[in-house]
Amino acid sequence: MAKRDFYEILGVSKDASESEIKKAYRQKALKYHPDKNPDDKQAEENFKEAAEAYEVLSNKEKRSRYDRFGHAGVGGAAGGGGGYHHMSMDDIFSQFGDIFGGAFGGGGGFSSFGGGQRRRRVNRGSNLRVKVKLSLKEIAHGVEKKIKVHKYIECTSCKGSGAKEGSSYTSCHTCHGSGQVTQVTNTFLGQMQTTSTCPTCGGQGQTIANKCQVCAGDGIVRGNEVISINIPAGVEDGMQLSVSGKGNAAARGGIAGDLIVLIEEEPHGSLERDGMNLLHEAYISFPDAALGSVIDVPTIDGKARVKIAPGTQGGKVLRLKGKGLPSVNSYGHGDLLVNVNVWTPKNLSREEKEMLERMKTSENFKPNPSARDKSFFSKMKDYFNN
Ligand SMILES: [Zn+2]
Ligand SMILES: [Zn+2]
Repeated sequence: MAKRDFYEILGVSKDASESEIKKAYRQKALKYHPDKNPDDKQAEENFKEAAEAYEVLSNKEKRSRYDRFGHAGVGGAAGGGGGYHHMSMDDIFSQFGDIFGGAFGGGGGFSSFGGGQRRRRVNRGSNLRVKVKLSLKEIAHGVEKKIKVHKYIECTSCKGSGAKEGSSYTSCHTCHGSGQVTQVTNTFLGQMQTTSTCPTCGGQGQTIANKCQVCAGDGIVRGNEVISINIPAGVEDGMQLSVSGKGNAAARGGIAGDLIVLIEEEPHGSLERDGMNLLHEAYISFPDAALGSVIDVPTIDGKARVKIAPGTQGGKVLRLKGKGLPSVNSYGHGDLLVNVNVWTPKNLSREEKEMLERMKTSENFKPNPSARDKSFFSKMKDYFNN
């Protein structure tokens, strides 16, 4: 079912003020209130629809997201369908405090207006957990992942109501719609009243005349849903994202659970992650270290050319500013740290050995470290203090 435009539902213009929206919603809520329209499914739909529209348009942040992205901006994950209404009657009634509080003189008159409905139990679907594997590249830029989830979905045959086509809900005969039963027992102290959940309707206040045969009246069946998840840049292994309303559907039109997405990071061949920074071990030959050179260093999106100064010591760390990962919750960006290793040859020919023997005697080949050729340990100290 395609959702209607929220502004259209409340009958206001796109640039309506807060008070105009509030006023429009108040009118709709009074018109379609279930107490005024008993057993009128269409009125209930309109009532829920208006409440949902108000919930979004009355919230500055949600309204601006809705203006920019439409329904996808305020319904949790983009696309994928999902529950039509995410608000329960309880949610809607609890919203009334700030709408009608003033208008009804302290709310006294209104609390009884919503009265009997409040106690009904609302079904909730359970949360679902899925793992999503991401490459470093996907983490660096953020990604939209489409995943197929096996879960409880709304029964298409009865549209989640649990009732056979043409059949409808009737007020429960045992509890007369309240969802609760009161028993009076005689004790030696006199009569005692106990209230418990109605066994006939399970607290819902309604029963189905003819159950849907596909779902046996549950309103939900096992099935698959493809859900797209927007993963922000900079997430880390082990992080969890929650997509509201994309977990298991709830029985008979209740509120769906959430989808909990656990982030798993795929290892990169030559880059290692350290928070927002990336680490790379580079190996250069001894002549390159002594004479200077230019090497290619892998980055998230390809490679970078890095200059090796003549006389570079093994263990020097080069910092490529901003070539790390973005922060998931701020504007910062990490660096790419290149640890330069000087490769010592393991196999030497006779001539090579002779050449090295000759170099050994030269004064220039004797180790003579200065403050600039910092040791590995002091560099580690610098690094961790940054
Ligand atoms: Zn069904
Ligand atoms: Zn009942």
